[in-house]
Amino acid sequence: MLIDHFEVSSPNVKYTADYIESSYNYQDTKLYKNAEKNTWLVEPIERGFVFRTHRKVPKLGIMLIGWGGNNGSTLTAGLIANRENMKWETKDGFHSPNYWGSLTQSSTCQIGKLNGQDYHVPFKNILPMVEPNDLQIDGWDISSLSLEKCVQRARVLDLDLQQQLVPYLKDLRPRPSIFDPGFVAANQKERADNIIEGEKQNQMEQIRADIRDFKEKSGVEKVVVMWTANTERYCKVEVGIHDTEKNLRAAIRAGNPEISPSTLYALACLDEDVPFINGSPQNTFVPGVLEAACRLRVLIGGDDFKTGQTKMKSVLVDFLIGAGIKPLSIASYNHLGNNDGKNLMEPGVFRSKEISKSNVVDDIVASNRILYKEGESPNHVVVIKYVPSVDDSKRAMDEYVSEIFMNGRNTISMHNTCEDSLLAAPLILDLCLITELLSRIELKYDDEESFRNFHPCAALLSYLTKSPLVPPGMSVTNALYKQRAMLENVFRAVVGLAPVSHMNLDLLIE
Ligand code: NAD
Repeated sequence: MLIDHFEVSSPNVKYTADYIESSYNYQDTKLYKNAEKNTWLVEPIERGFVFRTHRKVPKLGIMLIGWGGNNGSTLTAGLIANRENMKWETKDGFHSPNYWGSLTQSSTCQIGKLNGQDYHVPFKNILPMVEPNDLQIDGWDISSLSLEKCVQRARVLDLDLQQQLVPYLKDLRPRPSIFDPGFVAANQKERADNIIEGEKQNQMEQIRADIRDFKEKSGVEKVVVMWTANTERYCKVEVGIHDTEKNLRAAIRAGNPEISPSTLYALACLDEDVPFINGSPQNTFVPGVLEAACRLRVLIGGDDFKTGQTKMKSVLVDFLIGAGIKPLSIASYNHLGNNDGKNLMEPGVFRSKEISKSNVVDDIVASNRILYKEGESPNHVVVIKYVPSVDDSKRAMDEYVSEIFMNGRNTISMHNTCEDSLLAAPLILDLCLITELLSRIELKYDDEESFRNFHPCAALLSYLTKSPLVPPGMSVTNALYKQRAMLENVFRAVVGLAPVSHMNLDLLIE
């Protein structure tokens, strides 16, 4: 059953005109080693938290770097089609828009039971969130094509819909962007006709000016910036250049060539107090950027949207290893024909993707040392090929060979075909909406005077990314359902509710 909205009825939760405030008793465990007895002790611990969520949802603008690409143009078209409630005809009949694939818009959370039945609420209604139809969108691209032409170039959406969108898209043009051919494939140069000229420092200033200009012209109160431009190669992180904020800023002023466009964007956003999310796999967040985010207390998140093959992997490997089955090999082949695939042909750029796709099982493997000895892991291979004729319709083929009971073998093969951008666009939406919400939640330990914010490294976005950025000292979780539980349970805590445990204790008792 679905209910739309709820309020929490508890002495620990207070609703005022401005805030939802909750006191929350966080329960966890602490582990000790008793060296004398050579035993382990696990101690249950409790800590009181207070959360305060600003209820007023701001007018939000999102700025996409790579706005004219398949993801950027598909998201823009999808938002407009939803807002205008367009209907379009295909050979299968009429279709209407939706937000399927979006965690916030199209998934639900169990909120309680009535007469033994589970009741659910839309994820987006646990806490007050921006409505997608109210979003303003803007962005940058090295290609000057209007959004109308970008949607045509992407060939993702049906023709009738494309045509209905023309009046809304024809005047939308990406702002000129920072382009450094040394960081992407040589084949990307041919579309680069919309570039901010000048030195790195000036380029960064221009990005800051663009953000301010967007705010002023659109009247949005808050902005979130997202990198959905081409994957860059890793930058070579060097001491004295990228290692501290001071060195990074000095290196930018000196025009150091080993500072990537995405790093310049990230720093420009931090300076404008604007959260920056990295939807691609490169190492945008060099130590100097991390230091700046922590000093300025602005959220950053990433890396690399977790859409198809990797999402599946972070479910399947978690299931296998969680079931006591030992994957021996994971062989993943992809081919795709969009511009992302074309860019990934360059070995340095492919390497960024390979790293982000490969690390996704590490924590799951490390969680089961019954199956894997220290240092042991499955053979894991990732291959990506560019096949222009399949366009945005990416193919992913995976073979998982596992060892089962009494040395038996089990092979699972999977073939996945999907328009890549239709998977990524709802994630971009979620990343922006959740980031905005996180910036509206304050928290503190119950014995502290003043509230703080979530750590700038937005680990709560993990569910949506292949290679989650987490605060120092926190281990990365890749398993999809743990990532979802983390987000859902933190949101529940923020409104004063216990985590969903699925224990049903009161029904288990006779
Ligand atoms: P795309 O090539 O269609 O779009 C990228 C856009 O970025 C292009 O329009 C290009 O002109 C522009 N661009 C390149 N360098 C730029 C720069 N320096 N500044 C501004 N614009 C620049 O690719 P896409 O399919 O939209 O994917 C975008 C990114 O998202 C890629 O890096 C891809 O790896 C990543 N990604 C996509 C998915 C998915 O499922 N679609 C999943 C994970 C990650």
